[in-house]
Amino acid sequence: SFHKSKGQHILKNPLLVDSIVQKAGIKSTDTILEIGPGTGNLTKKLLEAGKAVVAVEVDPRMVLELQRRFQGTPLSNRLKVIQGDVLKTDLPYFDICVANIPYQISSPLTFKLLNHQPSFRCAIIMFQREFAMRLVAQPGDKLYCRLTVNTQLLARVSHLLKVGKNNFRPPPKVDSSVVRIEPRKPRIEVKQKEWDGFLRICFNRKNKTLGSIFRQKSVITLLEKNYKTVQALKLSGQGLMEDNDNKMDFSRPRDNNEDLNMEVEDDDDGADEEMQVEDGDVEGEPSEFKDKVLGVLKEGDFEEKRSSKLTLQEFLYLLSLFNKAGIHFS
Ligand code: SAM
Repeated sequence: SFHKSKGQHILKNPLLVDSIVQKAGIKSTDTILEIGPGTGNLTKKLLEAGKAVVAVEVDPRMVLELQRRFQGTPLSNRLKVIQGDVLKTDLPYFDICVANIPYQISSPLTFKLLNHQPSFRCAIIMFQREFAMRLVAQPGDKLYCRLTVNTQLLARVSHLLKVGKNNFRPPPKVDSSVVRIEPRKPRIEVKQKEWDGFLRICFNRKNKTLGSIFRQKSVITLLEKNYKTVQALKLSGQGLMEDNDNKMDFSRPRDNNEDLNMEVEDDDDGADEEMQVEDGDVEGEPSEFKDKVLGVLKEGDFEEKRSSKLTLQEFLYLLSLFNKAGIHFS
């Protein structure tokens, strides 16, 4: 019997398994990370295609079944099974990741993989269709959201295969898609907290103009508070230290993705479209600081633009303009 809570939907269509393995572009020298191998239908093909498979499986019964399946066959010495929750497991080196995962771990897993070092060549992952479409969305698409921009900051993502419910036993409630995720090399370095704070504000109301978002009282108040903190630090001479810290941060590879994980949970249930801050529509009083903020938007010609249509490059550029003006989001 299968565990619904563990998202155990076994791939039963061998043609689909073949197609996933083929699209993964596995080399005979590759070490493959498989997440949630289940009974091993995909594992078998991966072992035949690559050099070694490391499979992380949370369910001890599945681990046993998997080991039994390959015992005494030539494939068994190239398979290593790690029993545990992939989100709590230190991942070993791998060239490529192939996974048919339980959908409830989609976003934390995606960011865990994308923050893994050294970074891998690509990941081929089965997701719930809507999650997949969010990952690959382009500016102007309905599903373009914070998850999209955060993922595309770290990786190039493309849609590979549509997969109907009936390819699984038991069939899940939703349709699925297989997606290819290729980490960007080199990485686009951002200060993570700045970036996260900035995107949260921009996507608070993704269909409003940035001009109206940045006129909101709550936004102006927050940014002015940050601004004053930074100015005070500069005056007291700590600014230099702070700057140095930031510079180091800037080039250091990310090792903490907590913020991103939480953030993407919001997006998962589409909350970004409904989420509203209490005084969402209250405009701040006219002030010098407000003019400064709006001045940055005007400088980059962003006032009339909307987050739902901004490219990754435009987000990066706008954040750099704010930071240059001393306006910070963390
Ligand atoms: N790969 C198999 C296939 O395609 O037939 C099974 C896929 S099934 C959708 C998901 C598998 O992931 C199950 O075997 C389940 O026990 C396992 N799993 C669920 N949560 C997990 C977690 N947090 N870490 C590792 N494996 C997990």
